[in-house]
Amino acid sequence: MGPAFVPATGRPEPKRDRITKNEVETELQRFNEAVEAVAGNLSETGDRLRAAGSEEEAGIFEFHVEMAEDPELTSAVEERIGNLESPEAAVLAVGEEYAAEYAAMDDEYMAARADDVRDVTGQISAQLIGRGASAFEALQTPSVVLAHSLAPSDTARIKKGMALGFVTAEGSRTSHVSIMARSMGIPAVVGVGPALEEVMGAQTVAVDGGEGYAITDPDPETVAEFERMSGALAEERAALDEYKRIEASTGEGRRIEVAANLGSSSEAEDALEWGAEGVGLFRTEFLFMERDDLPSEDEQYEAYSAVARAFGEKPVIVRTLDVGGDKDLPGVDQAEEENPFLGWRGIRMSLDTPELFEPQLRAILRAAANGNLKVMFPMVADVGELEAAKARLQDCRRELESEGVKIGEVETGVMIETPAAAVCAAQLAEESAFFSIGTNDLVQYTLAADRGSERLRRLQNADHPAVLALIQRTCEAANAAGIPVGVCGEAAGEPEMIPKLVELGVTELSMAAPQIPRAKKVVSEL
Ligand code: PEP
Ligand code: MG
Repeated sequence: MGPAFVPATGRPEPKRDRITKNEVETELQRFNEAVEAVAGNLSETGDRLRAAGSEEEAGIFEFHVEMAEDPELTSAVEERIGNLESPEAAVLAVGEEYAAEYAAMDDEYMAARADDVRDVTGQISAQLIGRGASAFEALQTPSVVLAHSLAPSDTARIKKGMALGFVTAEGSRTSHVSIMARSMGIPAVVGVGPALEEVMGAQTVAVDGGEGYAITDPDPETVAEFERMSGALAEERAALDEYKRIEASTGEGRRIEVAANLGSSSEAEDALEWGAEGVGLFRTEFLFMERDDLPSEDEQYEAYSAVARAFGEKPVIVRTLDVGGDKDLPGVDQAEEENPFLGWRGIRMSLDTPELFEPQLRAILRAAANGNLKVMFPMVADVGELEAAKARLQDCRRELESEGVKIGEVETGVMIETPAAAVCAAQLAEESAFFSIGTNDLVQYTLAADRGSERLRRLQNADHPAVLALIQRTCEAANAAGIPVGVCGEAAGEPEMIPKLVELGVTELSMAAPQIPRAKKVVSEL
């Protein structure tokens, strides 16, 4: 909660549109120098973020460097300069053309790239008219930032502690503003659409990023309520501090490992701070989704190695690509499906797409030399899929050995998130070193209730006899085979579910890192 800050619109306004024929040579040169300066700044910011361990955010800036230097873009601008347009106007016009093309694409990820190209071309234009600095330099008191959209270069320029919250008209769960906000620990409400106009005139704004709403000029009662909520949150966190360092066991002495779910390697250090005893689920798809090309085997190796190194001997479960359902993969042709959640998802897609699967398996095997990595396959529905996936892993292992590449040992496990996998848990256990129950999907498939639907909230509940029966069956199969069984769906972090899961025989719980201390407390009190 704090004063509203509306950044002056980021668009530079060129004072002249046209140049004379005599100026073409010098203007071309000025344009090239501006591109160089902007690319230089962007790559410096990228290096700074990388040095700070924010790999994913650094990647965004590297992508912007590529965009700034894109030969197609620069030659389109040069052509306009040749036709006597001023470079500052030409680069904005070309930026708009590109942005319109991206925005028209029927793909959330590609549409979000429209903002990137506007951001980069806007910076080149600003550089040309001698206005390199952004409106965010004016942000000198801690405030809630209200903007149509926020580009990575904007958020990166905000001084530490100056942003109390973000409210943007554009943006989605996977847009860069959300990623940056999450990694900066700033509450954000994105994608509010035209409602932003109502917020714009406000003096003070209160943002609840957890529930996803913002209140303008809150009355004294609301202010008191927000103060109470944030006080309670801080108190709750402080009281749980002592649990960060403990290894949780129940009163009967049953050890329950409490681990973190990660979406990117830059979250590893924070997760350790919160007391993670390992990574129960590393969702690798985000590495693939935040860009418009596929990460190479080497890039994946670096990302997995970074987490493996950070966690040392602690186990890190890397889940192979789980796209499909509500997660699209730019760069891969996914045909339209009537029921994407019942479609080409997870291991089904990986087994059909060796050009995606094999580099990932190779990267995991190589990174395993740097720590305690395990590999886990998502959306498995029968033993045949597990056998096929393990055979691919074995092929990759042999290939790397014959190439003389250093690799590590990796155990293989299965996500139990289809009812079929839970029913067949005993057979799957014969072929697995561990299980991890994905309650998010297990609930939606068991109760036939789309996990994203607002209206079906009543059914989005792991505490249903059918789901509990499947969890029980899975635990019995795992315990009989002597393999560990974790839960990495949202239920693992819910205080009211933890006693039930432990009772059913679960041996590990994996959750969003900030939930770890509370979960350890709940386990210790059982
Ligand atoms: C799950 O389904 O419970 C799970 C952890 O995987 P995701 O949420 O990534 O589908
Ligand atoms: Mg799942």
